[in-house]
Amino acid sequence: MKLLVPVKRVVDYNVKVRVKADGTGVETANVKMSMNPFDEIGVEEAVRLKEKGIATEIVAISCGPAACAEQIRTALAMGADRGILVEHDGVLEPLAVAKLLAALVAKEGPQLVIVGKQAIDDDMNATGQMLAALLGWAQGTFASKVEAADGGLKVTREVDGGLEVVQLKLPAIVTTDLRLNEPRYASLPNIMKARKKPIETVKPADLGVDVTPRLTVLKVAEPPVRQAGKKVGSVQELVDKLRNEAKVI
Ligand code: AMP
Repeated sequence: MKLLVPVKRVVDYNVKVRVKADGTGVETANVKMSMNPFDEIGVEEAVRLKEKGIATEIVAISCGPAACAEQIRTALAMGADRGILVEHDGVLEPLAVAKLLAALVAKEGPQLVIVGKQAIDDDMNATGQMLAALLGWAQGTFASKVEAADGGLKVTREVDGGLEVVQLKLPAIVTTDLRLNEPRYASLPNIMKARKKPIETVKPADLGVDVTPRLTVLKVAEPPVRQAGKKVGSVQELVDKLRNEAKVI
């Protein structure tokens, strides 16, 4: 079966994010950008399914500026077969991305899309679910294990109380949780090979999708600076401070 794996370009998880002086967003100029970590897990899972003979072709997709080709190349070096860049310079909200992915699903005809559970930049946790809704497909979100079973997929989900196992009919959407796998590092020979793999570039209009934003960001601000702690001399003093200063008891 053919698989699509969306890979988002985000600020690297090791970078301390700085808010822009005008409060309109976070600084991305001269900041290290990487593939969203949950998407690395998605690519890894897709490559493992191909190694097991379950997947036949893996297509990595990124929506955003031309620089997203870097993240597609990383996916190709990890084992994806080809890439599609949906080039757009403005803001792309989850619904717009889900519509772009739905249009590519119609064009490519995959049986499975492995989406990250959330992008670490905007923490929306929405695109995979929206895509499943737009397509009317089964979804297994927050997956910590994916197995081929009974002509479909058995997905183990991380839920509050523990683990839930769901059986999905194909075609389906799976969203990746942290414990699904440990993504591989691309080897140098594979990085070289990835340079020759094809990346097709399309625009949202080519896919017939209007990506005009529907949300307005009012303000982005740094979290308040944490106050220094205080040492107390006795339990009585602690209780007194909790009652009269913090007013929490
Ligand atoms: P979100 O709903 O924004 O938290 O993102 C969840 C997942 O949707 C990400 O981990 C990606 O797999 C996918 N996704 C979101 N935005 C993009 C994008 N611009 N390009 C490719 N994939 C995306």
